[in-house]
Amino acid sequence: MEKYELLRARLVTELPECKLQLAPSVSEGQLALAHDVSYVNAVFEGHLTHAQQREIGFPWSIGMVERARGSSGATLMACRTALQEGISANTAGGTHHAYADRGSGFCVFNDTAVAVRCVQLEAQRASSGAFGVAPILKVAVIDLDVHQGNGTAKIFEHDPNVFTLSLHGAKNFPFQKEVSDLDIELPDDCCDDQYLDALEASLGKLDLLFKADLIVFLAGADPYKGDRLGRLSLSMDGLQKRDNIVFNWAFSRGIPIAFSMAGGYSVPITDTVQININTFKMAHSYFLKYGFQAVNS
Ligand SMILES: [Zn+2]
Repeated sequence: MEKYELLRARLVTELPECKLQLAPSVSEGQLALAHDVSYVNAVFEGHLTHAQQREIGFPWSIGMVERARGSSGATLMACRTALQEGISANTAGGTHHAYADRGSGFCVFNDTAVAVRCVQLEAQRASSGAFGVAPILKVAVIDLDVHQGNGTAKIFEHDPNVFTLSLHGAKNFPFQKEVSDLDIELPDDCCDDQYLDALEASLGKLDLLFKADLIVFLAGADPYKGDRLGRLSLSMDGLQKRDNIVFNWAFSRGIPIAFSMAGGYSVPITDTVQININTFKMAHSYFLKYGFQAVNS
């Protein structure tokens, strides 16, 4: 939890151009676009069973509900802002282990899934006229947290308008993986070159398979070699190259991109915060280079 506060403090001092805003929390109705109503109710009313709380990894509290609602709201706001301004981020988020009907692995609600479903609905409402049906906003989720985005993969399993790409450690949590549209499994101790080659190849495949109107990028800091839960061996420089590849890919195609922090458990935790700050600085450099132009072209 400490990393979020540290990240915010460093953004204020080191990247004052970055506009920080508090996002409104999502409602039960918005959550129900990606989650089962019975699960949303159980979370809101404090009726989660002991087994459900154990799978999430922490006990139910009002603070847990508010935090999960706030984080989904922040990813939604990041998606909306990205669609208008090209790029935006949630300084938390990336809770990709949450399924439609249950939380898991420190994830209560799947902020990516909730945000994607909300912006798709909003875009459709905004553009549908009296005649004809508006096309659905197509979203690619690029999940580079070191753990597979299993909840996200399952929620969008049969959705042709959302493409899920996950690069993750083959031997890491979750041990029972789901099927994303594109999964790349990496061996323990995978280094920069192997990872970056796999990422470039994956984006090449994404180019052939899907035409996205919006990218949601989970910029997990946990592929870092100093991460307690990572099992891979990327350097900080390698992670900056990773971010560069993703932002370059999105901006050079004029695709708006929203990103979230996802996992990061380094010792010391300031290494995770440094990786997160580096992602923001890379994003900012692309915003300065391309600005609004790419999005509107
Ligand atoms: Zn992770």
